[in-house]
Amino acid sequence: MFYQLDFSAEVIAWYRENKRNLPWRNTKIPYFIWISEIILQQTRVEQGLAYYERFVERFPTIENLAAANEDEVLKLWQGLGYYSRARNLHFTAKTICKNLNGKFPNNYAEIRKLKGIGDYTAAAIASFCFNQPHPVVDGNVYRVLSRVFGITTPIDTAKGKKEFYALAHELLDSQKPAWHNQAMMEFGAIHCTPKNPACASCIFKSKCIAFNKKIVKKLPVKAGKTKQRNRYFDYLIIKQNGNIFIKKRTEKDIWKNLYEFPLIENKKQMSENNLIKSKKWNELLGKSRYHIVKKSSIYKHVLSHQKLFTRFWEIEVSKPHKKLPDSFIPIREQALGKYPVSQLIANYLEKNLCKQNI
Ligand code: SF4
Repeated sequence: MFYQLDFSAEVIAWYRENKRNLPWRNTKIPYFIWISEIILQQTRVEQGLAYYERFVERFPTIENLAAANEDEVLKLWQGLGYYSRARNLHFTAKTICKNLNGKFPNNYAEIRKLKGIGDYTAAAIASFCFNQPHPVVDGNVYRVLSRVFGITTPIDTAKGKKEFYALAHELLDSQKPAWHNQAMMEFGAIHCTPKNPACASCIFKSKCIAFNKKIVKKLPVKAGKTKQRNRYFDYLIIKQNGNIFIKKRTEKDIWKNLYEFPLIENKKQMSENNLIKSKKWNELLGKSRYHIVKKSSIYKHVLSHQKLFTRFWEIEVSKPHKKLPDSFIPIREQALGKYPVSQLIANYLEKNLCKQNI
């Protein structure tokens, strides 16, 4: 078993030798740490890096972000997924500018109160920027701790969260929380990886319970996988006098505040004939004179809890029967690129309309 300082000292020594040079590691400015941690919550460093660089180039200060239009913030986020992260970043930037004079709070309790900042992000900002002793417990840390200490309590249960947090807290070197936390996260990200961890060259090899009991692949344990549900979308790209129609998604659902084409959603895949005869198709096109220019094959798009099966229909309307509801905005096709859209729509546009539309 480890003594607290042995563990922390060993992982910090490993980090000094092996850490990647990443832009957010060269700063203690909370705004930059916050942006990077929010981007990296659900995203690998390789993908998140370019987004981080674009984001801080366009919004170099919290005031710049607060003053931005939400469409622009979402457009920069396009393709990263979990768009509530971007909406919350924008909301919180505005709150800090309005209520805190643009100054990021400098302690864990106040940071934790901000919208979109949970225990993990608050601990990261408080320790990296202000050297406060709060352990970061992210997916990487769960994996390392469960393996080194052979813990089989499921990480996605209240009991597991409590147990891992207590251990992470015990191991934290309170004199070096920034180094310790970054070292733990990096060790999990590039050494004790989910698949093929580098056990043969590991600093913890002799003490690691999972390695010595040959149960590395079994850890960490998860109680149950969340069920994925299937959804069936048909997007109608209605073209009329050089315009196409888009709508902002405002419902409490995936992609809130992103734009999309008129959508027909069904509980199961409809045959093309039945779709064209359906009430929803009729509501959008009625007795208009139209011509189906193109229909796509089915695009499968997988999100964390949903699988989407989507067809795109490009439809030229020569004589509209009725006006589409006001929530649909007519725009020139070339202007589509200014609007934030889901990665699913961006994928379709990339293959089928001009690149400038993405
Ligand atoms: S020995 Fe393997 S499983 Fe154990 S900490 Fe090292 S890399 Fe992870």
